[in-house]
Amino acid sequence: MSTRIISQESQDGDNDLRLRPARLSDYIGQSAVKERLAIFIEASNQRRDALDHVLLYGPPGLGKTTLAHIIANELGVHIRFTSGPAIERAGDLAAILTNLEPGDVLFIDEIHRLARSVEEVLYPAMEDFALDLVLGKGPSARSLRLDLPKFTLVGATTRAGMLSPPLRDRFGVLIHLDYYRAEDLAEIVMRSARVLGVPIDPLAAEEIARRSRGTPRIANRLLRRLRDYAEVKGDGEISLAMALEGLALLEVDPDGLDPVDRRLLKSLYERYGGGPAGLETLAAAIGEEKDTLEEVIEPYLLQQGYIQRTPRGRVLTPHAYQKMGFVSQV
Ligand code: ADP
Repeated sequence: MSTRIISQESQDGDNDLRLRPARLSDYIGQSAVKERLAIFIEASNQRRDALDHVLLYGPPGLGKTTLAHIIANELGVHIRFTSGPAIERAGDLAAILTNLEPGDVLFIDEIHRLARSVEEVLYPAMEDFALDLVLGKGPSARSLRLDLPKFTLVGATTRAGMLSPPLRDRFGVLIHLDYYRAEDLAEIVMRSARVLGVPIDPLAAEEIARRSRGTPRIANRLLRRLRDYAEVKGDGEISLAMALEGLALLEVDPDGLDPVDRRLLKSLYERYGGGPAGLETLAAAIGEEKDTLEEVIEPYLLQQGYIQRTPRGRVLTPHAYQKMGFVSQV
């Protein structure tokens, strides 16, 4: 796993549960998502019925796990936490399902990585709240249907496109999380600083927000690193000056790009004349795995309009030329 300071993937020290909002009203930003969820949750509470299954999808670090916990809290039920790769056999899932209590939330992270045989157990569980067991083998095999309590499956994925259609179709609520606005991230930084007891200038919070790639996990991580910096280099307060110095040391530039991003843009320019260059060629050129490039590095560069995807590969945009001070070669 990458150890870049601005990696969206979870790293050691990221899981400070105090920073995780517990109620919908504390969940900052994503107002359309919150509004929809609040209605569905209230309706299900009024009917005293389990909430329909929810699929959360979007880049890592945007708050999918946090939302799953919030959903369980707002419904007043327990949450069971697991992940696609952790459930190896159909029997593992059967054991989890039969241990649920009525109304419980079952959270499956990275649900696109479920084995096919496990997925097949999930279909009747989601649709009919039933578990189909096959007893015996060969011609004498019999199948037995076991009733399960009504539960809510909350699935999370960074790759909604990789979910099999029959699985995707069984979710009643589809929620897409997109990158956060800088204003919302600044509010998240201020909230986290309060929780951690770190004094911070709101201008410093805005600066951190601008450099966090629209991602709360990165905002919180930068905040923690700048807290270290301010404690060692100053009196512990994250002033704007302190934040700027610390961010320079971390090599996160004013647009949130780090040396890996800049290396990618530079190599696309210097080696491939601005592109197009294929994903694999580019990954090799910057010494990263193809999957890391595609899932972690590239999405933000695409979203910010530094590169574009074309059928023949990635190309630099005029915005990238401007940012990097490249001279157009056409
Ligand atoms: P994901 O499951 O999408 O990878 P997480 O739910 O683990 O992301 O969120 C990463 C961190 O960001 C959490 O620890 C949480 O503290 C913070 N976070 C995410 N979304 C919000 C939000 N809307 N408001 C405040 N903090 C948030």
